[in-house]
Amino acid sequence: MTNQTQWETEIKAELEFLENIFQRRSIVTTKELNSSWLIRNGQKLLNLASNNYLGLLNDSRLKKAASKAIDKYGVGSGASRLMTGNHPLYDKVESRLIQWKRAEAALVLNSGYTANVGIISALMKRDDIVFSDKLNHASIIDGIVLSRAKLQRYRHRDTNHLEALLMKAPKDKRKLIVTDTVFSMDGDIADLEGIVRLKEKYNAMLMVDEAHASGVYGKGGQGYSHHVNLQDKVDIQVGTFSKALGSFGAYVVAKKWLIDYIINRMRGLIYSTALPPAVLATIEKAIEIVEEEREKRTLLLQHAEYFRNRLTRFGFDTCESESQIVPIIIGANSQTQSFATRLQEEGIAAIAVRPPTVPENKARIRFAITSAHQKKELDWALEKIIQVGKELEVI
Ligand SMILES: *Cc1c(COP(=O)(O)O)cnc(C)c1O
Repeated sequence: MTNQTQWETEIKAELEFLENIFQRRSIVTTKELNSSWLIRNGQKLLNLASNNYLGLLNDSRLKKAASKAIDKYGVGSGASRLMTGNHPLYDKVESRLIQWKRAEAALVLNSGYTANVGIISALMKRDDIVFSDKLNHASIIDGIVLSRAKLQRYRHRDTNHLEALLMKAPKDKRKLIVTDTVFSMDGDIADLEGIVRLKEKYNAMLMVDEAHASGVYGKGGQGYSHHVNLQDKVDIQVGTFSKALGSFGAYVVAKKWLIDYIINRMRGLIYSTALPPAVLATIEKAIEIVEEEREKRTLLLQHAEYFRNRLTRFGFDTCESESQIVPIIIGANSQTQSFATRLQEEGIAAIAVRPPTVPENKARIRFAITSAHQKKELDWALEKIIQVGKELEVI
């Protein structure tokens, strides 16, 4: 026996514990062949596991925009935006964003994670109250924790519960309601109309995270707020360029004075190096493509509906999914892991989502559909999923 320090023993024991409860994660190298297929451990798999919803990841127009920017400007940005990193391409992208979102002001940020952590912790302080949907993205929770504000979690999509909590809160405290629009693990959608009504009634701020809705919902792909025409009632819209837009980075749009405040107070903007010019160039091009190519969105949602209907018809529980994210609830962690393993053996990459990402006994397989999938690929996958479902007695 070698002598282990106490911290070494403890950390290793925790890893072992995760292994035992089927929650230990690892990073597996994955090569994308195209928007539908990938290679992992030498095996070719149908990719039902990425957020590349419009298949733009490999789009030749985005690649060209990036390489042109690299040739012209180089690869790095050299400093934060408040120092010397505010490349002229930022102005172009932000003007484009303002136009696209019909907003007063916009800011490009380094990632969705940074955006949520930085904006919430800039706006909220100790004694303020944040009302957050129970299934909001982890980056939202981290932002609230960092802000030291009081966290009030309301039951998933339950505006009655939200109102009960708002009613109990002291009138003089600053209040923020924050929600994903399309939820990342359930594929269901927030009751934005109900939330806007409550925000107005209780004088709260409203922030939405459109990470999975940007590029997918709205006439020009602006997000779910635009889809239901409530964009002007939402104080802060955050979204990402890293999913449907096939690029990287995030945005926030809001009133000019709020954006000015964020520029002055958001530490993830002030103390982090700006995005490289090539990323900015692809973002600009991606917005243009997404706005123009509406047929991609239509096809994506048709694909998703077809896929979901087939699964429910065969007895799977797809939660309240309405979007391109289609989960099937398995329940136990071990069985969910077996399901994902069996799918992989059959040639399908799909993610087994386990606690703490989802509640206990709600472990699931998460399928993400893209407009780049072909109908026959989806049919092939459905056949395999149904076969494994029967084999493991899930259906
Ligand atoms: C992916 C995601 C983020 C994080 O965005 P990144 O650009 O990947 O950092 C934030 N919120 C939600 C809801 C997401 O799904």
